[in-house]
Amino acid sequence: MGHDASTTMETELVDTSQLATQWARIRGRLQTEVGEVEYRNWLRQMTLAGADGDEITVHLPTRFLSDWVRSRYGERLSALWHAENPAIRRVDIRAVGPASSPPLAESLTSAIERPASPPRIEERADPRAELAIDPRFTFEAFVVGKPNEFAYACARRVAEQPSSPGFNPLFLYGGVGLGKTHLMHAIAWELVASKRFNGGRPVSVAYMSAEKFMYRFIAAIRSQQTMQFKEQLRSPDVLMIDDLQFLIGKDNTQEEFFHTFNALVDVGKQIVVSADKSPSDLSGLDDRLRTRLGYGMVADLHATTFELRISILEAKAARAGIAVPGKVMEFLAHKITTNVRELEGALNRLVAHANLFGRTVTLETTQEVLHDILKAQDRRVTIEEIQRKVAEYFKIRLADMSSARRARAVARPRQVAMYLAKQITQRSLPEIGRRFGNRDHTTVMHACSRVSELIARDAALAEDVELLRRMLES
Ligand code: ADP
Ligand code: MG
Repeated sequence: MGHDASTTMETELVDTSQLATQWARIRGRLQTEVGEVEYRNWLRQMTLAGADGDEITVHLPTRFLSDWVRSRYGERLSALWHAENPAIRRVDIRAVGPASSPPLAESLTSAIERPASPPRIEERADPRAELAIDPRFTFEAFVVGKPNEFAYACARRVAEQPSSPGFNPLFLYGGVGLGKTHLMHAIAWELVASKRFNGGRPVSVAYMSAEKFMYRFIAAIRSQQTMQFKEQLRSPDVLMIDDLQFLIGKDNTQEEFFHTFNALVDVGKQIVVSADKSPSDLSGLDDRLRTRLGYGMVADLHATTFELRISILEAKAARAGIAVPGKVMEFLAHKITTNVRELEGALNRLVAHANLFGRTVTLETTQEVLHDILKAQDRRVTIEEIQRKVAEYFKIRLADMSSARRARAVARPRQVAMYLAKQITQRSLPEIGRRFGNRDHTTVMHACSRVSELIARDAALAEDVELLRRMLES
């Protein structure tokens, strides 16, 4: 009131970034309080959805998770928020599926018998809607590169020909945000969309996270409906269990899963499982289950490479219909390296900002808009890190940072790295020299003045150095 639109937006933006910073701190606190495993299992997927007056809204992807977090951590969350920001008095924890996803119930058969997807609104009321398959997670939307091509190929194969020997079970594993869930959903979509199997009858697919499996199993025991539970689980043609690591330490549930698994595989049904580690590295897993999980195909989603991150950004920017300069994509791909979800989140935020303010995306606006994300990635910059980034940037071997080679192609990047080391770290010239293959401090000095000189007259190099500095520093 009384504000014009732009003032309101700006005020909101400032608040939002403050809240984001406070939220990051609260998450950090929680993580230390409850421990890594507990945090990863229950709290990692919390997102800050908004603030209204004295209330903060936190979203979780499933009702099960939101119930759990509310009952176990609700009070603690309120207290932490209030401590961070005295204006906040309440925290509302809610379940939301992916935005505007037309949910498919866990048995997808019914969905496909109706005319083509997306399925109807009425399914939203279905309590099983939380097992929704995200319609954005298709094979077409999955960007393939060296680190994930094998897993992708295996997933495609299973979608095209479920239960083929050698691919059952399919075990997908890899770190957080590398595309395991995406591939599983893509298999489900593909299977449901094609009616090639079962003599024209659509394949029925059940997808659930391991935690959901556990929850339903426990609920079944409690209500003495384990028989129904077992039958239900044994009826689909394809059973997919996501994030199997959740079952570790839950012996009864593991046992039940093991029996379900055997029952399905024995009658030629397809199983797809994902986890954060390979079967042999999942310590605490029942040995019989481990062995059986290794019978089929085990496919690893490796950490993304710079090239793959660039391809992903390009694909997503194209999809969003927004022009993002190459330098900005490079910057993001260098800064946000571990998790595609975060990379996507950063890009989404840029897109939203560009649309909201009608500003073009530049390196400056990127830094501004992503300030908190970039800061969260920040650590103290080390010489090794500078060497690594610079080598990666100029596509030379890391070893050449210390080698005696004098060819310009390696000498120039090495000088840039020395220059940045001097500028960014607190290290002395002799210390820096030592880290670059025991060079003398005068060599470092020479490198610094040479690079300063070049920056003054070579705009392209100046930009490279500036970009590198931002990547390392911000
Ligand atoms: P995980 O289950 O391994 O933790 P997800 O499958 O949930 O990871 O992926 C996280 C996000 O990143 C999703 O939005 C997904 O669409 C996206 N993503 C991951 N890998 C790719 C890829 N290769 N191409 C396109 N999007 C990807
Ligand atoms: Mg996942």
